[in-house]
Amino acid sequence: MKQVVRARHAIVGGEAVHDFAFVVDEGRITHTGDGAAIVADYPDVPCMDYGEDRLLAPGAVNGHSHCYQILLRGWADDWGFDRWRDDALYRIIPQLEPEELYWVALAAFVEMLGNGITTVVEFFYLNGAGTARLEKLVEAAIDCGIRLVVARAWMDAPYAPPIFREDIASARRDTIALAQELRSAGILVCPAPHSLHAASPEMTRAAVDLARELDVPAHMHVAEARYEVEQVRSRTGLTPIAYLDSLGVLGPRFVAVHAIWQTEEEKDLMGDRGAALIHNPVTNQYLGDGIADVVGLRRRGVRIGLGTDCDLRPCIYDEMRAATFLQKTATLDGATLSARDAWLMGTRDCARAVGVEAGDFAEGCYADWCVIDRTHPSFHPWSHPVNQLVYISDPGIVVETFVGARKVSDRRRAQRYGNERIGAELRKVAQRLRLPLDHVNAPG
Ligand SMILES: [Zn+2]
Repeated sequence: MKQVVRARHAIVGGEAVHDFAFVVDEGRITHTGDGAAIVADYPDVPCMDYGEDRLLAPGAVNGHSHCYQILLRGWADDWGFDRWRDDALYRIIPQLEPEELYWVALAAFVEMLGNGITTVVEFFYLNGAGTARLEKLVEAAIDCGIRLVVARAWMDAPYAPPIFREDIASARRDTIALAQELRSAGILVCPAPHSLHAASPEMTRAAVDLARELDVPAHMHVAEARYEVEQVRSRTGLTPIAYLDSLGVLGPRFVAVHAIWQTEEEKDLMGDRGAALIHNPVTNQYLGDGIADVVGLRRRGVRIGLGTDCDLRPCIYDEMRAATFLQKTATLDGATLSARDAWLMGTRDCARAVGVEAGDFAEGCYADWCVIDRTHPSFHPWSHPVNQLVYISDPGIVVETFVGARKVSDRRRAQRYGNERIGAELRKVAQRLRLPLDHVNAPG
């Protein structure tokens, strides 16, 4: 069914626009333009009309998430990377049963929708014991309505927990089957060799070969921590990006996640090969990973999107703010990486980096948007909305979220999910896994 959506205030292509409208058909935007003109051109089409107190923004695109890591929030903090990985991540996550995974994923996705995220790339690595867990994650995404991209991890390193590990043949077989199964639901499935420490060179090559066959991006963690550079160099004589290039996998469909520790030559290589980057500035700070040279990579034409990675608070507005503040700090220049640059990295540019037609109010894009409360105190006094969203806002400003023109989140819905069933289910999971939570003060 066709529909016109009109707003007195909207953000289009990273700019504030007054009286803007678009036409939606089958969940996609077919026309855009001046509000009054569009309404006049489509007199018989129902119109959703937002007033002065609302701002329409394209839904944020989360380029990298591990939703189940919300279970680590609040107790596995301040540990340093090795302890966090070994005593929290690798101890807790492998124990998740499929049904538990459903509730954890649903909790994270509902939180994302409430924070204005409409597309999420889930980098999922519990694939060593069959497909039941990943199927539950997909079910959770479909149930709450978030647009899902599955970056299906491939891992064959002996050190990885068995539930993460598999051989190349089974990873390939399951990824192909999943891609076929989810095609009709519009869910993109991308092979994702985990990292140079967790996937062998043969597995990395095979995963990127399959991405080519399926014509989708390939996602991979690269050079997140400094030790990885030394590890790769001692094994291969090359630095990580240079080594990936020597394997023949660096190209326009390669999406590097993190890529913090790079030489100037490697940055040139990323630009020359047309590779993309997903930058996770909040996680990079939380885990003490380092500061990626976003400004230098942008200058070289690398496409850059943002991700919430370990999902402390899955909110892309937080990531936008962190991205620009970190670049200003690293370059000692407050004029570096503007609010608009950061905004585009969390919306349109991220969508382009991960191969989804979303992130902007443009013809051909999915009709994914969020409705923002212009009367929220963090907007006083009202000035430039992009700057205010990036620098000042908190997630409470999002009042409704739409995916494919269907309302999937509003305050009432978030409350119903968050405070009742999901909260109770998550407490059960936490108790079974014996997470060191403060049960005395837990609500309910
Ligand atoms: Zn990650």
